Amino acid sequence: MEREMLNCPNCDTEIGFKPIEFVDVSTDPDYKEKIMTGQFFLVKCPECGAEIMVEYPVMYMDPDKKLNVYMSPDHEGDLLEQLNSLDVPEGDIDAEAIYRLVNSPTELLEKILLADGGRDDRIMELYKALIVETIREDFPQVQPQDLLYYVDGEEEYFIVWDYENEDGEQLTIEVDEELYQQLREDHIEALGIPANKYAEVDAVWLMDRIEVEA
Ligand SMILES: [Zn+2]
Repeated sequence: MEREMLNCPNCDTEIGFKPIEFVDVSTDPDYKEKIMTGQFFLVKCPECGAEIMVEYPVMYMDPDKKLNVYMSPDHEGDLLEQLNSLDVPEGDIDAEAIYRLVNSPTELLEKILLADGGRDDRIMELYKALIVETIREDFPQVQPQDLLYYVDGEEEYFIVWDYENEDGEQLTIEVDEELYQQLREDHIEALGIPANKYAEVDAVWLMDRIEVEA
């Protein structure tokens, strides 16, 4: 991999770093940890110690979970087509494998968490849209994009980014297993993605497929 250079925004020292463009967590479990803590995309200035956030395309693979996420910050509109133009040998086609394209480290993190929680991201996008409709009266500004899935051991919830509850705490909404299963049962077919094809599963993707009413 090519060595890249950047200038420290704090002291202007020129810093060289090697972007890690492929992450296979079956061989490098540390990288998953670093992505989860946000450390992965930080480069430390050897001169002044400042930590600088760098974003570049990363292919994230978790073979155990059959999860493949390509993160490409602010990518071109036809990237998805490019990714899907590659022919997959018949024997490599796996209908259970997940191929996703995302825009940011936050979106990558959410895909990893969803896989950890054993949740289908398509159903969870639908779940988010439903929450937004349900809480519209109290929180008219909330968009599906403001909701982030989080799993911590047994606890699973959506963080409503930048919103607080009555007690001034971060607003969260617990994942209801029954509702999830119901949504899955009713809509998974309509949300199908061809085997071995990448998809950009987000709020916009969902809106193109399903109309959500509370
Ligand atoms: Zn510096």
